[in-house]
Amino acid sequence: MTHVVTENCINCKHTDCVEVCPVDCFHEGPNFLVIDPDECIDCTLCVDECPVGAIYAEGDVPAGQEPFVALNAELARQWPVINAKIPAMPDAADWDGRPHKRAFLIR
Ligand code: SF4
Ligand code: SF4
Repeated sequence: MTHVVTENCINCKHTDCVEVCPVDCFHEGPNFLVIDPDECIDCTLCVDECPVGAIYAEGDVPAGQEPFVALNAELARQWPVINAKIPAMPDAADWDGRPHKRAFLIR
């Protein structure tokens, strides 16, 4: 099992999650974060830290968000580790909760 970052992180990137992860398994892309499934120990600490509710246990990923399981694994291999909080993206509040954000994911 692992935890998974889903669509609502796109263009938000608050990064509260990375500060609590004991095994530094978050990786940062231009406008999205992912979790490395090979490193995540399912401690669940990051779930409540995410202000936009973007993180789920792999088995609890909402309907329609299933592609994010493979996407986290794929992009974690490509993007660098992030383990310190940085400012959220400038228009994060505007993007919170918008549907169909996947089309805006920058690789
Ligand atoms: S706290 Fe949530 S929105 Fe912010 S980077 Fe982490 S997963 Fe993305
Ligand atoms: S569940 Fe724990 S180990 Fe996995 S990403 Fe979240 S904080 Fe890190």
